[in-house]
Amino acid sequence: MLEIVTFTLGPAMTNSYLIAEKGSDTAAVIDPAWDGHVILGAADQRGWRIANIWLTHAHFDHLGGAAAVADGSNPPPPVALHPDDYWLWRAQGGAPAFGLEIDPGPEPTVDLAHGQKLYLGQLELEVLYAPGHTPGHVMFYFPAENVLFCGDVIFQFSIGRTDLPGGDYDTLINSIREQVLTLPDETRLLNGHGPETTVGVERQYNPFLQG
Ligand SMILES: [Zn+2]
Ligand SMILES: [Zn+2]
Repeated sequence: MLEIVTFTLGPAMTNSYLIAEKGSDTAAVIDPAWDGHVILGAADQRGWRIANIWLTHAHFDHLGGAAAVADGSNPPPPVALHPDDYWLWRAQGGAPAFGLEIDPGPEPTVDLAHGQKLYLGQLELEVLYAPGHTPGHVMFYFPAENVLFCGDVIFQFSIGRTDLPGGDYDTLINSIREQVLTLPDETRLLNGHGPETTVGVERQYNPFLQG
């Protein structure tokens, strides 16, 4: 069973997820958005060691806490990212365009690819490539748990913005149709901003996906 600790952090109110298999002391962080010390504190409290940082994409508001999480973990966890977002990572995730300066933390050393399997304890997750919000956006799918960590691909009744560098609307809609709507209705969508939703609810009510 998957344990999920959710934080909403930083200037863009970004959701960050600290996750571990129940009974295991090895955790991962999906999108250490901001305030890495808060994430570290929650891990400490549970006796968890953060062994991996998995990024859905390289926008600054999804990785602003990576440096602090890495600094406070021994050994520092490797950072995983899809290579098509490396340019964005090197550009501080676009922070300067918002008047911000961030330390993006340790350079990504794990290249994510569509269909790749990752492990959290005994739990298997699959990397799903879903470009459009950014060129190298991925989602993390736990099929046995009916959980999809979908970053900024799809939100409750909305979708990711495509007006930032590298964004493309048609590509995003295509990603949602092929990688999200193909999953079972009961799949939980834990996204980058706002409340949790499900595939079934979005299939029926998301205004961007009708017709
Ligand atoms: Zn984003
Ligand atoms: Zn975001």
